[in-house]
Amino acid sequence: MGNAQSNRRSPVSRRAYLKAAGAGSLVGIAGLAGCTVDTNGGGGGGDGDGENAIIAGTAPGFPPFELKNEQGELVGFDIDLLEAVVAETDYSLSEWREFEFDSLITALQNDRIDVIAAAMTITPDRRQTISFTDPYYNADQSVLVRRGGDFQPESLDDLSGRRVGAQEGTTGDGVVQDRLVDPGKLDAADYNAYGNYVLAVEDLENGNIDAVVLDRPVAETFAQERDVEVAFTVKTGERYGFGVRQNDDSLRTALNDGLQAVRESGRYEEIRNEWFGGSPS
Ligand code: GLN
Repeated sequence: MGNAQSNRRSPVSRRAYLKAAGAGSLVGIAGLAGCTVDTNGGGGGGDGDGENAIIAGTAPGFPPFELKNEQGELVGFDIDLLEAVVAETDYSLSEWREFEFDSLITALQNDRIDVIAAAMTITPDRRQTISFTDPYYNADQSVLVRRGGDFQPESLDDLSGRRVGAQEGTTGDGVVQDRLVDPGKLDAADYNAYGNYVLAVEDLENGNIDAVVLDRPVAETFAQERDVEVAFTVKTGERYGFGVRQNDDSLRTALNDGLQAVRESGRYEEIRNEWFGGSPS
């Protein structure tokens, strides 16, 4: 079906944006929870008005998966991928809504959104409350420190006695809790759980904390844009999926078929190359 959304941003400007993105441009997260952004732009040719219109939810500040560009528009790998996937289905995407990451599952359960596209790792815990599509990206965790700083940890144990940050409700948060705080290697007072990783990375740059635990592809993107570097990787073997309500089998099935179609058409690889410069996922 025709989807007027798919060509509305030029690939060049996306890539150029990422390169040019300075400190301020990834932020724009103040007052973000619940903020609605209509990306339909009045274009869409009726897309979004039918009974198969769905609303997507995401949590910007997680580059290159979802972020705000200099114009304040929501862009990223997840945005392009979900739009390409939905364009292969009988559904249409009417709107993107933005939340803090930790609020996305509740928003899905409360019908404020119909699908989560937020680099969300498929976990047994989350599967108790929502369903996931087939995986569309693989990632591990990593530890980010100040670039060229004195503190150069090589393992999680090296974070003992330091100040550590992660984003609330993420698998990175889980790693800090389960592998550092719970076993008593890190004092709970030395652990800050932020509403958004941008705030954690800013605190790292400012010296308020010494390390941030987060998904490796996102850590690498922050390292390209800011005064931070990846110290080491924590192998977690995570896989991202789009989240849907447990009773929404028809949407889940359609998205899985759409994912397969964008992989087979080469569109998946195109989108990946646009946002990751061709590096393997
Ligand atoms: N992949 C991680 C998780 O699912 C982080 C996702 C995010 O912060 N957007 O918890």
